[in-house]
Amino acid sequence: MKPFQFIRPDSADTALDAISAENAKFMGGGTNLVDLMKLQVETPDSVVDIHRIDMGGFSETEESGLRIGADVTNTALANHPKVRKDYRVLSEALLSGATAQLRNRATTGGNFLQRTRCYYFMDTTRPCNKREPGSGCAALDGPSRIHAILGASDHCIATHPSDMAVAMAALDAQLHTRKPGGENRTIAATELHRLPGDTPNIETVLDSDELIESVTLPQPIGGTHIYRKVRDRSSYAFALVSAALVLKIHDGKIETVRLALGGVAHKPWRAAKAEKCLAGAEANDENFRAAAEAELADANSKGDQTFKIELTKRTIVAALSEAADRENAA
Ligand SMILES: Cc1cc2nc3c(=O)[nH]c(=O)nc-3n(C[C@H](O)[C@H](O)[C@H](O)COP(=O)(O)OP(=O)(O)OC[C@H]3O[C@@H](n4cnc5c(N)ncnc54)[C@H](O)[C@@H]3O)c2cc1C
Ligand code: SF4
Repeated sequence: MKPFQFIRPDSADTALDAISAENAKFMGGGTNLVDLMKLQVETPDSVVDIHRIDMGGFSETEESGLRIGADVTNTALANHPKVRKDYRVLSEALLSGATAQLRNRATTGGNFLQRTRCYYFMDTTRPCNKREPGSGCAALDGPSRIHAILGASDHCIATHPSDMAVAMAALDAQLHTRKPGGENRTIAATELHRLPGDTPNIETVLDSDELIESVTLPQPIGGTHIYRKVRDRSSYAFALVSAALVLKIHDGKIETVRLALGGVAHKPWRAAKAEKCLAGAEANDENFRAAAEAELADANSKGDQTFKIELTKRTIVAALSEAADRENAA
């Protein structure tokens, strides 16, 4: 590992001073950053550990939503009573990810910003436009079954690996950030990550010195919440495909639907086309399949990912069917 300076500020202001240094990185739980530093994929000159900063924990917002400090661990977030009751899809997504030990350490901010699990990105002997712009994309010529089927480019076909961020996208969460000099801004979870285009090295709309301080969830919308994750083994594995769903049915018709997909794109994929098809429609398998077809109409595979197109459609239909059964039984 390359030598680096380790800085442990005790306030957001001192952290923002420290991050202004050249080639500095924030560290939340370190479960992704430190792994990548060991692989020489990340090579910061200084690491700014944000653990000692009080980011406010949990509180209820004025709109009866939930504010979550960016340093809240994945375990604490998954188990918070209001998350379990009102934002269950988020709790299920978090508990489907990684392991208990990792979740005890990983933070809300760090989970959003974890890097892709593309094998070639993590192997510095292989070309990768994300790690080294202009070097090429090894995934286009090698095994690539975990790669993207939506929104990919000829420069990068990586996927975003987070489960939590998919549920956050479905729930219309917002991130609140701060930059050196005190500038604050709010970013919708659906707008945080970028598609790769010809600059896959730029993964989010955040500046390199921008600190995520908190995340807010809007007023609960009720309904049935489901996080359905399809993976190669039933634990300790990232999603091949996942669906975060909130569904509310009234008199056999869909009153509310929020759907986001994981494992399919460079960002958590809010399924706007499927939502449009489903709004106000009869809750039946034919309409569920039509919505899945509409969402995947532009899907394509640049390698070994072809199977994921049908898998994603089936995952959407299965999540909708399960949620509809539960709604109808309630
Ligand atoms: C074996 C293994 C299995 C895993 N399985 C899954 C899985 O199934 N599903 C899943 O979703 N995840 C999985 N993970 C990934 C895990 O969830 C992430 O490593 C973790 O969420 C990252 O959080 P962290 O706080 O440790 O981030 P860090 O490693 O500390 O940071 C990650 C990135 O975020 C930046 N950062 C951190 N906090 C902030 C902040 N507040 N503001 C601005 N930038 C910040 C850092 O600079 C860094 O670039 C797995 C990880 C491992 C090692
Ligand atoms: S898919 Fe993206 S991350 Fe993977 S090798 Fe290609 S450019 Fe790099």
